[in-house]
Amino acid sequence: MKIYRREETRVVRIKDIAIGGGNPIAVQSMTNTKTENIEETVSQILELEEVGCEIARVAVPTQEAARAIEKIIPRIHIPLVADIHFDYKLALLAIENGVNKLRINPGNIGSRERVQTVVEKAKRYKVPIRIGVNAGSIEKSILDEYGGVNALAMLESAKRHIQILEDLEFYDIVISLKASQVPLAIDAYHTFACNYNYPLHVGITEAGTFYKGTIKSSVGLGAILSQGIGDTVRVSLSDNPSKEVECAKHVLQSLQLRKFGVEIISCPTCGRTEVDLIELAKRIENATKSIKKDIRIAVMGCIVNGPGEAREADIGVAGGKNEGLIFKKGEIIKKVKESELFETLMKEIENM
Ligand code: SF4
Repeated sequence: MKIYRREETRVVRIKDIAIGGGNPIAVQSMTNTKTENIEETVSQILELEEVGCEIARVAVPTQEAARAIEKIIPRIHIPLVADIHFDYKLALLAIENGVNKLRINPGNIGSRERVQTVVEKAKRYKVPIRIGVNAGSIEKSILDEYGGVNALAMLESAKRHIQILEDLEFYDIVISLKASQVPLAIDAYHTFACNYNYPLHVGITEAGTFYKGTIKSSVGLGAILSQGIGDTVRVSLSDNPSKEVECAKHVLQSLQLRKFGVEIISCPTCGRTEVDLIELAKRIENATKSIKKDIRIAVMGCIVNGPGEAREADIGVAGGKNEGLIFKKGEIIKKVKESELFETLMKEIENM
């Protein structure tokens, strides 16, 4: 069945970022500070920016939080999204205070008049709306009709919210269909992409703590993104949001959908390994963290197989007994003492 791949989705602009239509897949995260606490929220968003977050979302549960947006925006550099449940007055207030995007489900706002007020204001201020369908909160009538939580029920829920906006001629829409069960999320995103060309914000919700949540998110995002589906991503972890950004970037880089600087390839080690390869790989990863150049560095455990196994790397080291090699694209360029491997490699990288 034909799906709308990311090159074919509508383009939606969030401040100066365009998503959909084949634009780079944007990395998002969400603060876990009280939005009303402006200092803490700004400081966390700046930290997120530092690690590469491109869109930040904040919870807006109170009028004070909605008003804080006005003070937060001038101090950050990436678009800000207000996450609102039900209360249309908070949506209006967030827009008036300069927010760049709303995450609100129109079907939860209430009367048509209220929805219309929000939509008109969103149009006037050029604020897109993300509809967030979540497997855990699908309308009861839909669950009854579709026999429980499944991809078709999630699609139906999305359809109803979309229809409300389309009836008001509002099309700056982004959709997410999150589920904490990976197969359900994959199915839901696929089903949606067979039906609509609105851009998709992809995530596996409530993925868990750092280690298991990273694996779960990577598996889910990988399966969805590799079908050509997904225009923005968020990894949800019960941890510091900066780790969500790092994980999302690794997922995108692994799928070769975005480049974010250095990528380390390191061998798993085996009986041929002659150096403390694991330590060497960690050292190189740390030392190259801030390098913005898109280079692939290989750290290999033996000089016989290493350079050949890492042929696709731009540069690499291979450890041997008392000596090691520096190689580029599989070709050996230097033989050095084992103790000089790290420094020589770093010098070569600086000169690249
Ligand atoms: S590169 Fe060498 S040490 Fe590393 S896994 Fe391959 S054969 Fe073993």
